[in-house]
Amino acid sequence: MESCNNVEKEIEKVLTKFGAFNEHVRRTLDELIEYVQNLQQEYIESASVMETITPAQSSILSRCSTRVKDVVTSLATEHRDLHGTVSKVGKAIDKNFIADFATTSNEDVFQGSENAKLLNQVISEHFLRQGMLEIAEELIKETGLQMEQNKREPFSELNRILDALKRKDLKPALTWAQSNREKLLEQSSSLEFRLHRLHFIDLLQQGVFKQEEAISYARKNFQHLAVQHEKEIQILMGSLLYLKQGIQNSPYSYLLDPIHWVEICDIFTRDACALLGLSVESPLAVCTNAGCIALPALLNIKQVMQQRLVTGVWNTRDELPIEIDLGRKCHFHSIFACPILRQQSSENNPPMRLVCGHVISRDALHKLANGNKLKCPYCPVEQNPSEAKLIHF
Ligand SMILES: [Zn+2]
Repeated sequence: MESCNNVEKEIEKVLTKFGAFNEHVRRTLDELIEYVQNLQQEYIESASVMETITPAQSSILSRCSTRVKDVVTSLATEHRDLHGTVSKVGKAIDKNFIADFATTSNEDVFQGSENAKLLNQVISEHFLRQGMLEIAEELIKETGLQMEQNKREPFSELNRILDALKRKDLKPALTWAQSNREKLLEQSSSLEFRLHRLHFIDLLQQGVFKQEEAISYARKNFQHLAVQHEKEIQILMGSLLYLKQGIQNSPYSYLLDPIHWVEICDIFTRDACALLGLSVESPLAVCTNAGCIALPALLNIKQVMQQRLVTGVWNTRDELPIEIDLGRKCHFHSIFACPILRQQSSENNPPMRLVCGHVISRDALHKLANGNKLKCPYCPVEQNPSEAKLIHF
C-alpha cells in the first residue's frame, strides 16, 4: 500500500504540472491569437485595399512573426520540461515495486512433460469453469490434452444454467434440481425449494390477477417440500393476504429483495459443485489468489535471507521458513502439528493416533518406539507402535 502511495504522489505532481501547463498554454495562445487578429483587422485588411505594404507595416509583420516564433519556442521548452516529471513516475514505480518475482518461485515445478500437462489441464479446466468454452477447446486442441467429453460436459451445463439464472430464467435450474432431487436431498440442499420460492414471489410481484396461478403453483410444487420447509411455506402463504395492497407495502416486502437472485446463483454453484464433486472455486483461481496474498511475505523473507546471507535455506526443505496466513478463505482443512517434533504433518510424516487417543506424528512415533513397545508421551500408557492408526484430515 505504501508503494502505491509513493507512486501516487509522483502522479499527482505530474497532474498538477500538466494542469498548470495546460492553463498557461491556453492563456498564452489566446493572447497570441487575439494579437494576430487585431493586427489583421488594423493593418492587413486596410493594406489589401491599398495593395502595397508600407515599411511600417512590414516591420509590424516581422515583429509579429518573431513573437509567434518566440511563444512557440518557449512553449516547446516548457513542454520538454514536463518529460522530467513524467519519467520520475517511472522511476518511482521501479523503486517501489519489485518486477522480478523469479526468486520466490520454484522453477522445477513446471518442468517436465508430465507437469506441463497437469498445468495445461488446470488452465483448461479453469476456462471451462468460467464458461469460456472456445478458449478451453482451443487450448485442449493445441496442447494435445486428452480430456474426455464427460469431463467437459458438467462445466458447460453448469454455465448454461447459471447464465439462465442471471437472466432470471429459472427453468433450466429447476429441471436440473428435479432430476437430481435425491442427491440434493442427501446433502440437505434447499436449492429446489428456493427456486420454486423465487418463481412464486415473481408471481406475487405481478399483482392480484396472478393470485390463482400463484396458489395452484404452490399446491403443485411446495407439497413435497413441506416437511423441510414448513415455516417458510407458511410465510409465503401469509404473504398472499397482502396481494391486493401490493407485497411491497406489506410486512413481506423483504421477499422482493433482489438479493435473492444473487444468492440463488451462489447456492446453485455451491450445491451443484458439491454434487459433482468439484470445488466451488476454480483451483487455478484459488492458487493465484493465495499466491498474491503470500507474495509480499515471500519477497520480504527473500530480502531478509539475502541480507543475512542464508540463501539456500529455501531449497533444502520442502517447506517455507516462515508461516504465511492466507486468511480464513484459504482454510480448507485442519492442520496437524506434531506436539513432539513441533513440525507440521505432511504426506511423508502423517499424524498417527495412539491406542490411548493421543496423536503424534509418525516420525515421532518411530523415535519414541522401543522395539514393539511405546510409552505415550502424554499419558504413560504402554502400547505396541504398530497399533497406532493413521489419521486423515
Ligand atoms: Zn496417551
